[in-house]
Amino acid sequence: MIDVEPEPVARPDEPEHCAEQALPSRATVWAVVLAAVVVALWFPAADAAVWAVSPAAHRFTSSDSLVEMLPPVGGAAILAVWVFVFWSLIGSFLNVVVYRLPLGESVVHGGSHCPRCDTPIKWHDNLPVVGWLFLNGRCRSCQLPIAARYPVVEAICAGFGTALYFRELLSGGANLPQRAPDFLHGGVLMLFPNPSSDLLGLSLYHCGMLCILLVWGLIAWDRHPLPGRHVVAVLLVAILLPSLFPSLHPLPLSLDASESRTADDWLVNGLAVSVAGGLAGLCCGQFLHLLLNRLLRGDAAGRCGLPLLPTSSMGVGLALVGIVFGWQGMLGTVILLLVACLVQILIWSAVMAWPSMPLELLLVPATFIHLCVWRQLVTSLAPWWPGSPTLACLAPPAVLLLLVSLALPAIAPAVGQSQPPIDADPNHRGDQPA
Ligand SMILES: [Zn+2]
Repeated sequence: MIDVEPEPVARPDEPEHCAEQALPSRATVWAVVLAAVVVALWFPAADAAVWAVSPAAHRFTSSDSLVEMLPPVGGAAILAVWVFVFWSLIGSFLNVVVYRLPLGESVVHGGSHCPRCDTPIKWHDNLPVVGWLFLNGRCRSCQLPIAARYPVVEAICAGFGTALYFRELLSGGANLPQRAPDFLHGGVLMLFPNPSSDLLGLSLYHCGMLCILLVWGLIAWDRHPLPGRHVVAVLLVAILLPSLFPSLHPLPLSLDASESRTADDWLVNGLAVSVAGGLAGLCCGQFLHLLLNRLLRGDAAGRCGLPLLPTSSMGVGLALVGIVFGWQGMLGTVILLLVACLVQILIWSAVMAWPSMPLELLLVPATFIHLCVWRQLVTSLAPWWPGSPTLACLAPPAVLLLLVSLALPAIAPAVGQSQPPIDADPNHRGDQPA
């Protein structure tokens, strides 16, 4: 959907060499949309490739010919388009939430309008992604520039949601550790599969977490504090849901994930896993917050463009991941987050104009990738990956933490260019359509 922002105002005290090279917005949006489609279709494409190479080895279609497969595959493709559009609408709503939540405004009531000319935005201009592209990123009546961030968020949401629809729901939970994939009820290449109800719940639980992390990450990017009551409400709901449905946690509390467990033990498999994971996530997040803010001290946006912004809500972000995944999944996500940090630092070393990003926002792709390959990480990287029954799984996060701590000061410019503290960025703001 469309959001209108005030015209960019250059900060007078901003050093010239610090100004980020603005990419052409339209090309950026198209590139992100293309990437979202690739991410969305990655898993069914891989499945189809396996089927094409060795039909006999494929778990769903060994007895079907190509002609027999065409109608269900066509139906599944139409369904996938619907899912993609649905998730772009969710992304549009999240844009509204990111804008209105820090202001204390209702995220449900009130239509969108241009903040300069006050014209209500028409429904067809409000369509996710395409509305922005048709308008060429400007208000229809007064030509006020519209932030490219909004279609980008919508496209990313659509890509992630559709990928999880294939990867978690239709695959029968092939990404979940310690849980037999439910191939009989689902299948990436099947039309209207019938996933089991607990898998449907798991998928919704995980998608909800990703949406909340995206909202928190974008609010952190805008350098606004998270509203406390909203955070407490979200964490309480996330803790209580597995107490009602303990099967929302694929891994038990104990180190030995293979030990037998009963699915209906709400206290041990529900509440205990949530609380232990949440506390572990909060501690990890606070530790990362203290460490990185110390390394980045003295330069509000990093040392004149260092690729990491000081964190503000890392603790609650990782607490939510810990509640949803359990402590093992949270540690696995931290490993991927630190890898993302290192990649960000390396890219920045090569490309000075690479945009700074808050760690809270990097947490979103790290959590998404962890969720997509959770089972594969636990099984193929044992005993080094969290979820293995030994303490060796604590080594990778410790080593990566050390690497990030060493890499960050190492790439700092020789002459420190101190920058004034940065206030909320006006270029990210604007009223949002409902
Ligand atoms: Zn306008």
